[in-house]
Amino acid sequence: MTEKLYYTDSHLFTFEAVVTDCREGKNGWLVELDRTAFFPEGGGQPADTGRIGPARVRDVHEREGHILHETDKPLMVGECYSGALDAEQRHRRMQNHSGEHIVSGLVHGLYGYENVGFHMGEDCMSVDYSGELGQEDLRKIERLANEAVRANLPVRAWFPEEAELMQLPYRSKKELAGAVRLVEIPGIDRCACCAPHVGFTGEVGLVKILDAERHRGGMRLSVLCGMDALDDCRKRQESVAAISALLSAKRDGVSAAVERLLGERDALKERVATLSLRLVDGLAAAQEETAGNLCVFNPGLDEIGSRELVNRLMERCGGFAAVFTGSDAEGWRYIVGSRHVDLRANARALNAALRGRGGGRPEMIQGQAAASEQEIRAWAAEVRF
Ligand SMILES: [Zn+2]
Repeated sequence: MTEKLYYTDSHLFTFEAVVTDCREGKNGWLVELDRTAFFPEGGGQPADTGRIGPARVRDVHEREGHILHETDKPLMVGECYSGALDAEQRHRRMQNHSGEHIVSGLVHGLYGYENVGFHMGEDCMSVDYSGELGQEDLRKIERLANEAVRANLPVRAWFPEEAELMQLPYRSKKELAGAVRLVEIPGIDRCACCAPHVGFTGEVGLVKILDAERHRGGMRLSVLCGMDALDDCRKRQESVAAISALLSAKRDGVSAAVERLLGERDALKERVATLSLRLVDGLAAAQEETAGNLCVFNPGLDEIGSRELVNRLMERCGGFAAVFTGSDAEGWRYIVGSRHVDLRANARALNAALRGRGGGRPEMIQGQAAASEQEIRAWAAEVRF
C-alpha cells in the first residue's frame, strides 16, 4: 500500500519518496513509491502529472491501494527520489473542483437537485443537475457561491468513523463501499469525494457560470473557477475588443453594431438581387434570336442569376441556352436549358463532349466541365440534340 500524502496535505507539491517497484508497462514504466503526493484520477478530477527524479510522470492510477505512476523512464528500486507535481495545474483543478462542490451544495440546498454528472475538461468543467434552473436561479447560485468564497470558509476533508458517518447527511453519487471520505464546507456542502481540495474557500477565487442548457430533463452548467476563470475572462475580453475595433463600436455596444451590420447586409442582398435581374434582362435582350444554340460565358452573375439568364435565353433559341462560369484553368460550371429538347436524355453526350459531369431535369441540367472555352464554343456551334 502506498502512503497517500495527498489525503493529508492537498498543498504538498514536492516530496521525497523511495521507489518500491518499477516495471515496464504499456506506455513506458510503472513506478511505485512508498509514499506519494500524486493524485490518481478520481471523483471526476484527472490524475496529476509532474516529475519523479529524472522521470516524467504522464499519468497516475490506483490499483487496490497501490498508486502506479506511469513514467517515461525506469527508476532504481530502493533509491530515494524527489517528486514534484505540476503544481499550477493541480492548484487550478482544486480551485475548479472545490468551486464545483460549492455550486453543487448550493443547488442541492436550495432546490434539492442532485449532481448527476461531472466532467473536468481541458478548458471547461461541466456539471449536470437533476432539475431545471432558470436565469434568476443561476444568478442567485453564482452570487451565493462567490459570497461563500468571500467568507473564506475552511474546507475539511476526512474519513469519519462509521458511527459519525451514520449520523451525517451528505451528498453522494453512488452507494460507496469501503472507507468514505467526506469533504465539508460549513453551511454550504458535505459530499463524499476522494479528490484533493483547497484549504479555504477564499482560495477558489472567482466562481463563474459560463453557460447553462437543458440536458436530459435537468440542467448542464459550464463553470470555471479561479485562474481558469481569469484566463477565460481575458480571452472573452480580447475577443470583444477585437470585434469592437473592427466595427468601431464601444465594447458594450458590439451586439447593437452587429445587428446594424446584419441589417445592412440584408438590404444589400436585396439590392444585388434586383440589379442582377436587370442585368439578366439586358444580357438576354443583347443576344440575337437563333434557331441554333446560345452560349454566354462569365456574365458576372451568381447561380440564381445564371439560371434566370438561361430561362430568358431559352425563349430566344431553337436549340439550347447555356451559361458558363469559371475559367479554363479552374474549370467551368454550366447551366443548360431548353424549350425544345430533352436535356436529361442528352446529358451523357454533353458531359462526354465537355469532359464534365452533371445532370438535372429534362428542361434544365447543371454541372461542371473540364473542356476549354474554345472547345465549348466550337462544340456548341455544331451540336444539334
Ligand atoms: Zn468532488
